[in-house]
Amino acid sequence: SHMGMSKEQMMEIRKQNCMTMKITYYKKPVFIHQGYMQWLWDVDGKRYLDLFAGVATVSVGHCHPKVTAATQRQLKKLWHTTNIYIHPELHEYCDKLASYLPDPLKVIYLTNSGSEANELAMLMARLHTGNFDIITFRGSYHGGSQQTMGLTAKSSCKFPIATSSGCIHTMCPDVFRGPWGGSYCRDSPVQTIRECSCAQGVCIANKHYIEQLEETFATSAPSQIAAFFGEPIQGMGGAVQYPKNYLKEAYKLVRQTGGICIADEVQTGFGRTGSHFWGFQGHDVIPDMVTMAKGIGNGFPVGAVVTTPEIAVSFVKASHFNTFGGNPLACAVASSVLDTIREDSTQQNSLHVGTYLMTQMAKLRDKYEVIGDVRGKGLQIGMEMVKDKGSREPLPPEAMSEILEDVKDTGVLIGKGGVHGQTFRIQPPMCITREDVDFFLAVFNKAISGYTDRK
Ligand code: PMP
Repeated sequence: SHMGMSKEQMMEIRKQNCMTMKITYYKKPVFIHQGYMQWLWDVDGKRYLDLFAGVATVSVGHCHPKVTAATQRQLKKLWHTTNIYIHPELHEYCDKLASYLPDPLKVIYLTNSGSEANELAMLMARLHTGNFDIITFRGSYHGGSQQTMGLTAKSSCKFPIATSSGCIHTMCPDVFRGPWGGSYCRDSPVQTIRECSCAQGVCIANKHYIEQLEETFATSAPSQIAAFFGEPIQGMGGAVQYPKNYLKEAYKLVRQTGGICIADEVQTGFGRTGSHFWGFQGHDVIPDMVTMAKGIGNGFPVGAVVTTPEIAVSFVKASHFNTFGGNPLACAVASSVLDTIREDSTQQNSLHVGTYLMTQMAKLRDKYEVIGDVRGKGLQIGMEMVKDKGSREPLPPEAMSEILEDVKDTGVLIGKGGVHGQTFRIQPPMCITREDVDFFLAVFNKAISGYTDRK
């Protein structure tokens, strides 16, 4: 166990000197001390199954031996040099990452976070198109810097300041909570349990949501959209999935307005959706720009923007300098993460274990009135909680906290999200096993039945 500072001392320092946060996840806080693969240990030596991965960030596993070894090798060689000089780690990594992306997405810019990547993407989209307005989904999260806070459309993450102007929020095509759709209307492995309810293969919900996007264009200068930003499956928004073909049609319309299409793969990239390496591939689209972070470094701070040579040209009129972006250490880590995903069949595991989890979880959904929806792809999973299935009113925050606390006390860490904080999120290190899933299901079942009994 941990021999350093006591819990009481940490709580005191947290009050006095340590970055405060409005979000309080747990009544009794968790003091994390050590991690290995899908496991975390607290300062008392209690073990947790980590199904949230520091917000979908630890991709191949905490302190994965291969990534740790690669990091240690680089630590002894070179930590930092600026990109004024040429160093092999950056070039080896860019070559490797480019091989995972379809043509023409081949030009890479490295950053240190997702917010930074999205901020750069906004800048490049505006420079390239000469337009200003950017469209994102209501309920989305794309960053906390001043510019990206404008993209973000989740009230719990917005401060009353002038964020980027020119950010327009279109209706999120949420087929569960939105005005159109059915609870089983989505492109997901769970669809194998119940088919999409739309008649004759024409998705009526999709048609309505696309009309909303067209209405949104009408709030902007004609044909002057700079970009459309969307996550392939929402993260902070609560694993919201769009109707099949939504992104495909949206991309077409956005391009007609002169805008470019940007996929925020900060959470969905690097095999998390299981069926594909990138979330956008599941929608059968090729964006003009892809932003990434989190899983790219397995917890080490790395972010990236990948775009086309044509768009990259618009970006050389002035110098964009980033001290740490593409530093040798970050590149060595990110490079070994890519190797590890291949060697450990991480993406395949994500598909198999994630589909198993959702299939089993769908049984709990059918058993309990408060589990309104189970959705996602691979290990990007959401369970939307409701007061009852008839009203679909969000389960109130106190009830969500009660369940979350119980699940934690029994040894599992999961996340929370959604516009009303009504969705539990499962986005674990992608090395989890079916046995871990069985353990989680037992824990979750106990927490929900306990909650239902007390009510
Ligand atoms: N985009 C998405 C989809 C995210 O989930 C996040 C972080 N939660 C970000 C961007 C911002 O990333 P960062 O916290 O690394 O700035």
